Order: sequence, then C-alpha cells, then structure tokens
Amino acid sequence: MAQHEECPELSVERQRNIPNDVIARWQRLVDLMADLIGVPAGLIMRLVGADIQVLLSSDTAGNPYRAGMAAPVYGSGLYCEMVVRTNCKLLIPNALESEVWRENPDIELDMISYLGFPIRWPDGSSFGTICVLDNKENFYSATHVSLLEEFRDLVESHLQLVHAESLAQHHFQNATRLATDLKRQKELAEDACRVQSNFIAAASHDLRQPIHALNLFIGALLQVPMAAEGVCLVEQIEATTNSLDELFAALLDISRLNAGVVQAHCRPFRIGSILHRVCNDIAGDAAAKNLHLSYIPCKAIVNSDPLLIERILRNLLSNAVRYTDTGRIVVGCRYKPSHVSVQILDTGRGIPRHLQSRIFEDYYRVDNPGRDGDRGVGLGLSIVRRLTDLLECKLTLDSEPGRGSRFEVMIERTKYEVAARETSNDDRNTCPVSGLVVVIDDEQAIRTGMSRLLDTWGCQVIATASANEAIRLLSTCILRPALLICDFRLADGESGVDAINRLRVEYNYTIPAILITGDMGSEQEAKLPSIGRTTLLYKPVPNHKLKSAVRILIKDPEAAQLCPVASPSLKIET
Ligand code: ADP
Repeated sequence: MAQHEECPELSVERQRNIPNDVIARWQRLVDLMADLIGVPAGLIMRLVGADIQVLLSSDTAGNPYRAGMAAPVYGSGLYCEMVVRTNCKLLIPNALESEVWRENPDIELDMISYLGFPIRWPDGSSFGTICVLDNKENFYSATHVSLLEEFRDLVESHLQLVHAESLAQHHFQNATRLATDLKRQKELAEDACRVQSNFIAAASHDLRQPIHALNLFIGALLQVPMAAEGVCLVEQIEATTNSLDELFAALLDISRLNAGVVQAHCRPFRIGSILHRVCNDIAGDAAAKNLHLSYIPCKAIVNSDPLLIERILRNLLSNAVRYTDTGRIVVGCRYKPSHVSVQILDTGRGIPRHLQSRIFEDYYRVDNPGRDGDRGVGLGLSIVRRLTDLLECKLTLDSEPGRGSRFEVMIERTKYEVAARETSNDDRNTCPVSGLVVVIDDEQAIRTGMSRLLDTWGCQVIATASANEAIRLLSTCILRPALLICDFRLADGESGVDAINRLRVEYNYTIPAILITGDMGSEQEAKLPSIGRTTLLYKPVPNHKLKSAVRILIKDPEAAQLCPVASPSLKIET
C-alpha cells in the first residue's frame, strides 16, 4: 500500500456513524487478532466514497499501517480490493509466489501474505474488510481462519446495532419533525379558525342589522291593508326571516365557541331551579302540540356554569318537543356517586342507531320526509356538544326509531352544600335569580358594588362604563343578556336610554331593562313608554327593591310593561 496517503477529511468521515465505544472495542479486537494469529498487522478497512481506508490498525510491532491511510478501492490492486469485489474470503500464503499477486502494492510494505474477509452492513452492502497481513509466508491454520471469521461476525453484529440505532434515530427525527410540522399546521388552522370566528363575532352587529331592518319592515308591512293572499306571503317571509335569524344566532354561538372566547364560570347551584325554569318556558310549545311535559323535581346541588347548563338543557328540551309528535316528555335527574345525571326523555321519532353520532355534527339533520316544516338549522346539538365538552360533562344518547330518545348529561355534584343551600333558601323566599345582567354605569364604585350584589343573587354580570364597551364584551359571550341595568346619565353625554336602545338593536330583541336615575320626576319618566320593557328606579335604590325588580324582569320581561304573560301549565311530579 505504498501509494496510501493519510487523508484528514476522510478521517472524520471514517468515524461517522460508528460510536466511539464501538471503535474502542474494535481496536482491542484487531490488537487481539494480530496477537493471537502472530502477525505484524491486523486491520479493519472501511469503504469511504471511492476509497478504501484503514479504519483501525493493530498496535503491534512491525505494523506499517496507520489508521487513515487510504487508496482507491478499484484499480489499486490491493488484497482488500479483491475481497470487496468478490465479497469472499481471500487467503494468499505467499504473494511473491503468485503470478497474480506478485506486483500488488502491499509487497512494498513487505506484507507478502494475507487473510481477509468482507464485512457487510446489515442490508448486505459492503462496509469494508477485516484482515491480517504477515511479512513472511503464512498458510493460516483453520483455527486462525475460524478466529478471523468469528471476529468478522462480531464486527457485523456491532454494525447491526449501529444500523438499528441510526435507523431509530432517523425515525425519531422524522417523527419529531412531522410532529412539529403537524403542530404548526394545527396552530395555523386554529389561528385561521379563530380569526374567522373573531371576525364573525366582532361583525355580528353589522351582520345582524339587515335582519333587524327586515323584521321591522315586515312588522310595518303587516299593518298595511292587503288581500289575504298578500298577508299569507308576508307571514311566510316573516317565518323565513325568523329561521334566518335563528341560523344566524346559532352561527354566532358556534363562532364564539370555536374562537375559544366562551369561558365557563363554575359555581355550586341547584340544578332543580334551572330545570324548573326551562320546563316552564317550554311548557307552552309542548302544550301547543298536545304533549304531556312533566318534570320530576330534584334537590341536587351541582358544580358547573349554570348559564351554559341552562343553554344545553334548553336545546335538548326544545328538540324533544320539536321531534315528538304524540305522547310525553319527562325531565328528571338521577343521583350517581359523584355526579347527577340529568335526563330528558321523549316518546318521539327516535334516531336510527347509525345516525346517533352524526346528529352532533354541524348542520346534520336526520331526513324526515314530509316533515320539513319543523326542521331546525342543524346546529343545536353541535352547540350542545361544544358546551358539554367545555364543561367536561359527559353527554349520552339512547334512542330507538319510533319509540323515543333519552339524552343524558352528567354534571358533577358538589361538596359545597352549605353555600348552595344558603342560596336556595334565599331562592325559596323569593324566586331564583339567574341570567346575564349587563350593568352600565360610568362610576367604578357603583359598577363594583352592583356586580358583587348581583353575583350574590346568582346572576352573571358584565359591568361596563358605556354601551360601546358592553357591546365589545358581549361579543365574546355566548349568552344574550337577560337584563340591562343602566344609569340614566352616563359619561360623554351618553344617556342610559340610548345605551339600552343600542343593546336592544344589537340583539334584535327588547331586552328588559332597569333605568336608574337620581332626578325624580324629570323628563326621562316621560320618555320611558317610548323605550318599553323598562322599569325606572330612583337613587338610592334599596336592595330589596332592586332585587325584586331584577327578579320580576328576568322571570317575566313583559312585567315592566305591566302586561304579564300567562305561563302555560307544567306538570310537576312529586
Ligand atoms: P335541528 O336544528 O335540526 O334540531 P340539532 O342539531 O338540534 O338540529 O339536531 C340534529 C338532528 O338530530 C335533528 O335534525 C333531528 O333529526 C335529530 N334530533 C335531535 N333531537 C332529537 C330528538 N329528541 N328526537 C329525535 N330526533 C332528534
């Protein structure tokens, strides 16, 4: 190997992928090999590109080879070239006596005899050779040949480990890169969804305006004398606009939920008071379809967000009424060790088993031929699913076509019995007060005091200094306000009447309101009939008076106009 030259760049390459501890073991191996066979040189050669180079050379007397020496693998005439080419063992006792080997380059280093084996990577490709060389004739005994073969097997088994490890590392790196990519893609998709949802939530006012205007025009049109056919058409337009409004409200809710701006405010509360209220509200629709609606009172105290739970139960119960043609609907609870299972059962159409998971998808509706008139928009259960996910409440469905359905919501029971019981005693004296109350007052102290008070009565509160701020905060809230409490004089010349009107326009609904004023008998009293559903209270407002007004208006928004709506009968089972 006279033309062998040390190649520093290759010395880095030759170490590549072979860990140091393996190199150290192989070094001991070639030393031992040369020693046992009694030759000056034991080598492990490795192919590096177009070269073959000394990866390890035995530390033995008279050894002319050093690690890093390299020569072209093909055409050099080296013993190892033949081993690599043929992929077979090569034994040359004395090169000087061989026509073929007399001229080979290792003769120049006095290495006249050779025994070598090919070393292969686990995939069968060539790694290099393992060999011993002697400066005298050597026939290498069968034991020596077997010994070298054993060493070769050992080296190949190490290569298998190296290969497996580098494969694992490669897969791990790929998986990590893939996971990072996926995470990034998911973040991008979520960002896009959030931006879109935020946009819809923020633009809700502008988007709602045309529907609101359409409603007003329809109302006005219905007052214009016209033929029966015209009235029928306008009524159809009104029904279509109502569906559009319903769809739009559902889309906004989904947007807010998708945008992650809806937050749960959990606290202990009596599930019974919510069930009672929801059943009461829906009793009219059930009675109109001749359905028997019964509610089994429940005293359980649960820990969750009462307003979001109310939203879930309202959706499920109105579906029960919508999709039941005859029979009954039963609402009740069952105690479980750590939860309360709220159940809504109906004797309605039922849902085929293979569609039972699909009905929770956005816009999915079971095909009901000939019953298009009572179709919803297909978003109610998607909202229910998102809300139960948000509140971590398990939602299950058991249904059989033609026999009915049972929706079950599991809500965590609470240990805070005392606090909740205090509230419920209070409720018994009066009536449960709950719902989202928007307080608009430009004085911070009043906002704080009012929020605390309303909170202790069980209301959820958004307190702001102006209508603008209220609209901004409400755009991130899934609930529509149950009541507005507004100071008559606000900052920057804004009046409470204007603020109330703006929020009503925003929601396209005459939200009941309490207007608080310090100027008794002033012109605002005269203005009140023009804004409707508003109760005027004079400062200072005694708490019991405020509470009674809040309770009456939340329970019956028409009360401010003193025209109570008769509540349809609801059967309460005991
Ligand atoms: P929709 O606005 O159509 O009511 P939902 O998401 O609330 O949308 O419900 C999806 C579908 O699930 C409905 O179209 C209806 O076919 C079916 N469904 C929901 N609740 C019931 C029920 N209590 N009984 C029978 N079918 C129901």
